[in-house]
Amino acid sequence: MKITNIRVTPLKMPLRKPYVWAQGVTEHFTVNLVEIEDDSGHCGIGECTTAPDPRALAEVLRHLGKRLIGRSAFECTALCRTIFQTEFKAYGANNPRFANQLLAGLEMALWDLMGKSAGRPVYDLFGGSHRDEVGYFYFLQGSTVEELAADAERAVNLGEPVIYMKVGLGEDFDIQATAAVRSIIGNASLRLDANEAWDVATAIRMIKKLERFDPDFVEQPTGSGSIPALAQVRMAVGVPIAADQAVFTLNDVYEVCRTQAADIIVLGPREIGGIQPMVKAAAVAEAAGMKVCIHSSFTTGITTCAEHQIGRILPNLDYGNQIMWQLMRDNIIAEPDLTPRQGKLSLPAKPGLGFELNREAVVEAAERFTHE
Ligand SMILES: [Mg+2]
Repeated sequence: MKITNIRVTPLKMPLRKPYVWAQGVTEHFTVNLVEIEDDSGHCGIGECTTAPDPRALAEVLRHLGKRLIGRSAFECTALCRTIFQTEFKAYGANNPRFANQLLAGLEMALWDLMGKSAGRPVYDLFGGSHRDEVGYFYFLQGSTVEELAADAERAVNLGEPVIYMKVGLGEDFDIQATAAVRSIIGNASLRLDANEAWDVATAIRMIKKLERFDPDFVEQPTGSGSIPALAQVRMAVGVPIAADQAVFTLNDVYEVCRTQAADIIVLGPREIGGIQPMVKAAAVAEAAGMKVCIHSSFTTGITTCAEHQIGRILPNLDYGNQIMWQLMRDNIIAEPDLTPRQGKLSLPAKPGLGFELNREAVVEAAERFTHE
């Protein structure tokens, strides 16, 4: 089975509601859809992030994809290593974060292709799953305390066990919103994500104020460039700390573990470079006695399906992982239904990543990108 063709298509995905976080307000996002065909008629599908320019990165992905032509998907690990070595590292442009974000789309499509070729779900190719169901959090949406409170009511009515919300949006707003949400959700788990909003001193002060709302953890309170800053905050507060944007590479995972800078690693295939790198990253965290919480930011159901495979594989998986497709106006996955019930999702054992695209929705998203 030889790879014959690779297609890369930018898709513009509007969100149902403006997405409010410490980095601003987002109304849509774009992904690059990656499709890799082989001479047996199978097509592996993946996606990756597009910042700062979807067209430019689509061209880069097409360039990298030339190295796959004529090769087998079952050479995935060596192919990804070769691409990184020859296209990034060899020129001194040793930028593993950037490379990982591109490789993630290719690697995801290659695993889908391997699974389809073998007629097995990807988790079977990793030796089978550790669990049948993967847990996901409910992601509160809203730009006011009232909207967040109303969404928290919806979460309670749905029986959601884990609630996640953004902070880092202003001291008064953070306190009022968190208080309102905690009063509504009772004893449900609560996660607070500051998305790098604070300096060390502000993080320590804010987390001490938020501690009374009993969060599971506060995620990425300080800037992603400093793992020591996370460690400094963690040593000063009584709330567990999660490392998210500080962790994009295996070296980052190791450094967070080695320096005890966090209590949990929040990481997704879009950052670490795909499915197999996630397994390796989780092993490093496991050795440090830590869990991994799957991170999914500005991703469609394609990544949800890849992350679900990862969730089935990892022994040290958190119970409230991130899921993002439901925030988009359109769903590009025709089947299966990716809606968690009371925070749990168990997808059917289908070959590869286990989904069928809604081709009509894909064409609309591609045209939206081209014409809007
Ligand atoms: Mg986060």
